[in-house]
Amino acid sequence: MFTSRACIVLRQRKVFFLLVAFIFVLLFVFGSFSNPEDYEKEYPLQLENEQLVICYESNTDYRKSLYATNLPDITDEPSTTQRNNHQPQALQQPVNGTEPVIYFVTPTYPRREQIAEIIRLGQTLMHVPRLHWIVADDTTSCSDVLNRHIRKFGIPYTQLASPMPEMYRARKNAPRGVANRRAALNWIRRNQKKTGVLYFGDDDNTFDLKLFSEIRYTKKVSMFPVGLIGDYGISSPIVRNGRVEGFFDSWPAKRKWPVDMAGFAVSLEYLALSPNATMPFKAGYEEDEFLKSIGLKLEDIEPKARNCTEILVWHTQTKSSKSPTVRISMDRQKLDKLNLGALLRRLESMGVNHISESE
Ligand code: UDP
Ligand code: MN
Repeated sequence: MFTSRACIVLRQRKVFFLLVAFIFVLLFVFGSFSNPEDYEKEYPLQLENEQLVICYESNTDYRKSLYATNLPDITDEPSTTQRNNHQPQALQQPVNGTEPVIYFVTPTYPRREQIAEIIRLGQTLMHVPRLHWIVADDTTSCSDVLNRHIRKFGIPYTQLASPMPEMYRARKNAPRGVANRRAALNWIRRNQKKTGVLYFGDDDNTFDLKLFSEIRYTKKVSMFPVGLIGDYGISSPIVRNGRVEGFFDSWPAKRKWPVDMAGFAVSLEYLALSPNATMPFKAGYEEDEFLKSIGLKLEDIEPKARNCTEILVWHTQTKSSKSPTVRISMDRQKLDKLNLGALLRRLESMGVNHISESE
């Protein structure tokens, strides 16, 4: 009797210990898989099927005398004295060919507004000397239509085809522009670019020309305000005595670096110190995790734009709408005798509309 009861107690203890051990193992396994700091393991720079597709490239600068050297540096502050009393000052630094190159990375994707966005942005960048424009298109194949528009600006450029992996595209909150920026990071690494400055400039943002002379001599990481962000209408570092002390952003979301993609620039010397730096496919946390992956420290940040009192970049967004199908009952030959044949074909090639004879 006594021995059998002792046996049951022992067995219960054994089961209890086994259960506890099992729970520990479970906690350990889940803990190690969901460590939020482990972004390098979770978001490797190179995905298995991620390859670098270079569509077109040009290293020649065809923009002759476009560089502005004598535009006045006028702020938008209300003048307390007379108007037009500003001393003209060089807006862009004079060019002698030794200035650090700005690698301006633009994610873009095919939609009906794409070409219009690229024209507007390209015409801004035409004014910026010593700039290499990396246009990374969210497509599997190289877009010739896009290329024809990029190359006409005469800016040294690289056009990449960098599609978002299908598994992310299916998500409600897809990480937009990440595959593109990762491809650009790969291009920078593969081409051993270790001097100059990296800047992520989306195709729909608005850039003040002064931004470029501000970021060109970035030592490690420079930061500045971005207008039209979130509920406050601005995202900006908080600066005291010329040092960044914190951030003003309406969506902190437990981010260590609550900044917008357009609100910082990184020197390539500094980037090269983190060969595994990457951007995660994690909507909302791209900037934060990228800046963590380069090991950023608060004291590494240089505030720009007059100690973050000026807005030199705006998070403008273009209203997008579906591409319409236009029924034209005239046959193609007749249409080609008018301007309409060529005009409609051009619009169709840009994805602005579709022409149908029956629909
Ligand atoms: N983008 C992309 N693929 C997409 C959606 C967006 O490559 O499916 C690009 C887009 O061209 C832009 C950047 O990613 O340069 C950010 O996207 P968007 O402007 O739509 O985002 P928001 O600025 O509204 O956060
Ligand atoms: Mn945008």
